Amino acid sequence: MVCRFLRFFGKSAFLFAAFFYLLVFLPVFPQKPIKDLEPTVILVSLDGFRADYLEKYKPPTLLELAQKGVRADLIPVFPTKTFPNHYSIATGLYPERHGIVENNMYDFGTVFTIANREEVQNGRWWLGEPIWVTAEKQGRRTAAFFFPGTEAEIKGIRPKFWKEYDARIPYEERVKTILGWLDLPRTERPQLLILYFDEPDTSGHECGPESECVANAIKRVDEQIKALIEGLKARNVFGKVNLIIVSDHGMATLKPENAVFLDEYFELGLAERILWANEIVQIFPREGQKDFIAEKLKNIKNAECWKKEDIPERFHYRASPRIAPIVCSAQEGWYLTSRLRYEERKKRPDFGKIRGAHGYDNQLESMRAIFIAYGRAFKEGKVVEAFPNVDIYNIIAEILKISPAENDGNPETVKKVLR
Ligand code: AMP
Ligand code: ZN
Ligand code: ZN
Repeated sequence: MVCRFLRFFGKSAFLFAAFFYLLVFLPVFPQKPIKDLEPTVILVSLDGFRADYLEKYKPPTLLELAQKGVRADLIPVFPTKTFPNHYSIATGLYPERHGIVENNMYDFGTVFTIANREEVQNGRWWLGEPIWVTAEKQGRRTAAFFFPGTEAEIKGIRPKFWKEYDARIPYEERVKTILGWLDLPRTERPQLLILYFDEPDTSGHECGPESECVANAIKRVDEQIKALIEGLKARNVFGKVNLIIVSDHGMATLKPENAVFLDEYFELGLAERILWANEIVQIFPREGQKDFIAEKLKNIKNAECWKKEDIPERFHYRASPRIAPIVCSAQEGWYLTSRLRYEERKKRPDFGKIRGAHGYDNQLESMRAIFIAYGRAFKEGKVVEAFPNVDIYNIIAEILKISPAENDGNPETVKKVLR
């Protein structure tokens, strides 16, 4: 009996000692350094991170990174929505060429929405060549923990590692996975790693750009960037890996009463289909009704409507057959709706609350996004003039030493930001 007790005690003591040892010493064991790093890019997207959030909320990690590396305001594409902008960053193309003309689109006799998994994963929507396809085609491995387009087979190719979008996956897990991919042996290690966070967009919509919730969301994503940097430092590759942090668009304050009612201007039944997206509405008129509807919308207040062929050139928003024959764009802070939709919206318990919105004119200051880059290939301590997000594709291609597909980016920007 005594013997058995001693044996049991001895075993427990050993287990305890082992546990204690792991607890105390394992975290300080240095991560295995990466000694054979090829040119590598980590592209991080912080959805809805408005350019002036940096000064306004002063996230310490992002600010430090911006000071060390290259920083610029990033000019989004029109419409300033999530999918069109992410895919312009990825392809270097304006939406009229890359096909993702809005978060909601009509083609193939069906409607694409960002919540429609089947269509989001269907390559037929995604035109042009995203950077991960260019890279994979030229023998570079790529990996994405979310990014619009990475779930679809485009030109028959997906990133080597990719994830089905699930907003519930903790941010920490995403960062750990990126670091884990870097830990793969050189022959399997991706050279382009992509990471996406839905904040501060989600909080921006909820509370508006000037709010405590956005302040908290920014703190949250800043901590994730810090964790990523810590992970790079532990592997001895911080400053070697090229970190590019971007956002897709900014955020404007939206008052619930700032509604523009399209049915005050024309009988909605004259349209075969209307794709409502608050800040931008696409109208597909019934046969023979286009000119009539356009005429009625000519003097619309707090918004602008154009026949497709009259959309201002600077939007680069005409060429795609997916762009509706009539497009309306709300003025900053306003949204387009119908009486019926408005009545439904009014039933929400939080109807009166100030909210945030984007999707407006891409020239607006409030729609400006961020570009922060630091790493071996980038200049140091440099603030460069605002540039369009279609310029990013060429920057990544240059770092990875791959030939870019034909695109809308200005090659001069590459020279401005890279060493
Ligand atoms: P929006 O503000 O409507 O332009 O879109 C932002 C929302 O898009 C975020 O709240 C995300 O949850 C969602 N989102 C981002 N990436 C994806 C994706 N790859 N698939 C589906 N939804 C996404
Ligand atoms: Zn977005
Ligand atoms: Zn949004």
